[in-house]
Parts: sequence; C-alpha cells; structure tokens
Amino acid sequence: MKVTEAEIVISAVSKKQYPNDRLPEIALAGRSNVGKSSFINKLIQRKNLARTSSKPGKTQTINFYRINNMFYFTDVPGYGYAKVSKKEREKWGVMMEEYFATRDTLKACIMITDIRHKPTEDDLLMYDFLKYYELPVIVIATKLDKIAKGKKAGHIKQTHETLQIESNDIIVPFSAETGEGKNDAWRAIKPFL
Ligand code: GDP
Repeated sequence: MKVTEAEIVISAVSKKQYPNDRLPEIALAGRSNVGKSSFINKLIQRKNLARTSSKPGKTQTINFYRINNMFYFTDVPGYGYAKVSKKEREKWGVMMEEYFATRDTLKACIMITDIRHKPTEDDLLMYDFLKYYELPVIVIATKLDKIAKGKKAGHIKQTHETLQIESNDIIVPFSAETGEGKNDAWRAIKPFL
C-alpha cells in the first residue's frame, strides 16, 4: 500500500479520548524495545512518526495513527520491561483491557516478536490475551536481518510452536533494516481494512 497521509490523531489515556469516526483499526502490540516503532515507521515510510515510545517511565498511551484517511494503526503500550512498578503494570492492564474488550472498530492485532529468540512468557500471555478477545493476529517476526538466511525457517517454526499459533493467524518474517517482508505485511493487513 502506498501511504500518502499518516498523522497522529491522539495519544489517548482513556476511552473517552478515542477517535469516533468509525474507521477500522489495527492494533500493534509488542515487548518494549522489540522494534515496534521501527516496524510502523518502515511500513508507512516515515522516519520518525512513531516515536520510540516504550521507554520506561514514559506515560502509557494508546497512540492513534490515521493512515490515508482510511484506517488507524493503534500503538498500544509495550510490555515485558522488567523494571516497572506493580502500579505501572496495573495501569497497563487497565488500559489494555479497556481498549481490547470494548473497541468494536478493532479488526486485528499485529504482534511484534524478535525472530532471533523464542517468544517469551510475556509474548505468550499477550497472544493468549488477544485470542481471548477472538482477534485475528498477525505476528511480525522482526530483525530478520540479524539471522542467517538458512536459519529463517527454523526460527519461524520456533515462534509458531511456542505461541501455538492458531490456524487462521500468520507469521510474517520482517526487517525494518532491509524492508524485507514489508509487502507481505501489507498483504496480511489488507483483508481487515
Ligand atoms: P520499540 O521500543 O519496540 O518501539 O523498538 P524500536 O523500534 O525503538 O527498536 C528498538 C531497537 O531495535 C532500535 O535500536 C532499532 O534500531 C532496533 N531495530 C528495530 N527493528 C530492527 C530490525 O528489523 N533490524 C535491526 N537490525 N534492528 C532493528
């Protein structure tokens, strides 16, 4: 897809701030520092629209990016950062619940994992959380440039098996560095728009 317009509409801290124009939404979830901002920026061809957002201590928000006046990417707060307080973790939970449990314009979730590593316990919890809400999930296994070509299939298999990916969900190997997998990512997103 050619992105001609991409703008951040709101960084929402609560439901009443969500946009109400009824455009479809694709959420983006992932562990802190996994490469989520890099993925969004590569997909929409902006250097820095999605800030490197998930630094600990930063306000947790759901960022709504309106793309081509056609749909939203919603960047939800990252997870899995060890050094967050119990209070922050609870706030994260409330915010995620509020969004995922009630948002009827939400069509699918992109979950970013690191292709080099076995998905973590947090990744597994996130995937199960999304499936609890019966959301289609597109797993983007990023940092593909960091593994040898011959090892790709094995790493995908590891991700598939660890997360126990349901049959309708797919894994797209991706690199924000080289752009590999970008067309496949768009192809996976399109049916939900
Ligand atoms: P976020 O916290 O999930 O938004 O992560 P960022 O997008 O800020 O990425 C975290 C770090 O990983 C940064 O140093 C990025 O440059 C790096 N990174 C992200 N994606 C890739 C990738 O596909 N390949 C490589 N080699 N590095 C990446």
